[in-house]
Amino acid sequence: MDLYSGYINKLIEELAALPGIGNKSAQRLAFHIIGMSPARVNHLADTIKNAKEHVMFCKVCQNLTDEEICPVCKNPNRDRTTVMVVENPRDLAAYERTGRYQGLYHVLHGAISPMLGVGPSDIRLKELMERLRNDEIKELIIATNSSLEGETTAMYISKLVKPAGIRVTRIASGVPVGGDLENIDEMTLLRALEGRTEL
Ligand code: ZN
Repeated sequence: MDLYSGYINKLIEELAALPGIGNKSAQRLAFHIIGMSPARVNHLADTIKNAKEHVMFCKVCQNLTDEEICPVCKNPNRDRTTVMVVENPRDLAAYERTGRYQGLYHVLHGAISPMLGVGPSDIRLKELMERLRNDEIKELIIATNSSLEGETTAMYISKLVKPAGIRVTRIASGVPVGGDLENIDEMTLLRALEGRTEL
């Protein structure tokens, strides 16, 4: 016998499938949503649909944005010769919060992981290579995580790019192994950036 109605079970299932939400949290959220007014629920549903419909990848850096070119890439004051390569938009946001990095970014949306079957063509590497061919980039700062996947990705990009004569650096490993960049405080991020080494 099911404890809850089929509709509630379905909602709990959907919520529990989201990252970082266990079964208990999913139940709590589901009951919260059922307790909300119909107008609030509609607003929440519309917000989700609108975000999905309107958010796109920046044509230049592949960050998520509402416009064709994101505000960072559009900003004329950014240093266009330096590009920091990160795994996801959250890492970009972490470096933006420091307010000290003046270059541009490239968001890979993942990292190479032979174990999980994620190859170079599954992340946005092709777009990076395209930028390197056409843009005035002099230095690539690889800021992928210090996990096995992040290191593998860093080495792969370095091998790919260095023959083109572009300087490739890696942020210092003051960043805890396996740590997500978004969870690291700003001082540590800046130290990692300043202490970057040649690859
Ligand atoms: Zn952009």
